[in-house]
Amino acid sequence: MRVDLRSDTVTVPSQAMREVMALAPVGDDVYGEDPTVNSLEERVAAMFGKESAVFTPSGSLANQLGIRMLVSPGEELISETNSHIVRAELGAAAVFSGITTRTWPAARGLLNAADALAIARPDSGPYLVSTTAIAVENTHNFGGGTVQPLNEIQDLYKGAKEMGLSLHLDGARIWNAHIASGVAFAEYGKYFDTISVCLSKGLGAPIGSLMLSTKTNITKARVWRKRYGSGMRQVGIIAAAGHYALDTNLSLLHHDHRRAQFLAQRCNSVSPTLVDPAHVDTNIVGLDLTALPISAAEFAAMVKTEGVLISALGPKFARLVTHLDIDDAAMEYAAEVLAGALERALMAK
Ligand SMILES: *Cc1c(COP(=O)(O)O)cnc(C)c1O
Repeated sequence: MRVDLRSDTVTVPSQAMREVMALAPVGDDVYGEDPTVNSLEERVAAMFGKESAVFTPSGSLANQLGIRMLVSPGEELISETNSHIVRAELGAAAVFSGITTRTWPAARGLLNAADALAIARPDSGPYLVSTTAIAVENTHNFGGGTVQPLNEIQDLYKGAKEMGLSLHLDGARIWNAHIASGVAFAEYGKYFDTISVCLSKGLGAPIGSLMLSTKTNITKARVWRKRYGSGMRQVGIIAAAGHYALDTNLSLLHHDHRRAQFLAQRCNSVSPTLVDPAHVDTNIVGLDLTALPISAAEFAAMVKTEGVLISALGPKFARLVTHLDIDDAAMEYAAEVLAGALERALMAK
């Protein structure tokens, strides 16, 4: 058996999704004439209580368009130390928008509004960099799929507005946060000026993200999307997969969360130092291998020989991600392979 737990981006479109894609009405989206893209943009904007949305090929581009609307060249965006915008977008904020970043650290990526606000420096005058926006990631990827507490988001919003700062939400997995917390999308939408969402993660679309904001910001963001070379033509073929994902796959995400919990509990039963299942909020399981005599890369290589693929994200940090293409049989097989390898590694100590 082959079980790919490296990421929820590895899902392949189902037959039913492919059929919807094949039949999608399309037009030239650079002319604003693709009905499937237009309806997807309207649909997702409305879900979050936003005026407008722009479809993008990647979540990174959706993030970059969002923060570009909030922060001018030479100004500063602040974010959590292990956030995707800072660590996994290859310096795009600096390269494309002349944005500098400063970060605050948070255990498991969990937002503490006071920590964020403590490093914010708006209106810093002619000598020091001025902070103009704060980015929040929900769920937090490298934090282990953690769901941000709503009261901290509310406190951050209040403090940020008092300081005249804007807020961006990296909501690549906001779907998972909503399913786990029960907080409505429109409630999350209230606190952020710009929002990015990904259809290509747990929702299982092959491609596609959106940036949501005011009409004015989205009109501007469309110009930048084209300038970056990402104006797409009959892209309704792909937007149709997004519609299908929202219709059908959103309501399946709770299975991913249940399966991640199962994997966490099995690993925890080998050694409680590896992972605390109570810290697994959604579909991501972070394994802390510091108590083991092997590296994360060595552990990944061990389980790969038995067909289980995982990510080594740090010298002693491995990540497992459940998704649409992992069923209960795959979950049970992976749990046994992972537990067996962890036991052998512990015994070799
Ligand atoms: C995946 C991801 C993105 C966007 O990634 P792309 O690969 O560019 O689509 C953004 N933020 C987070 C937290 C992610 O996990």
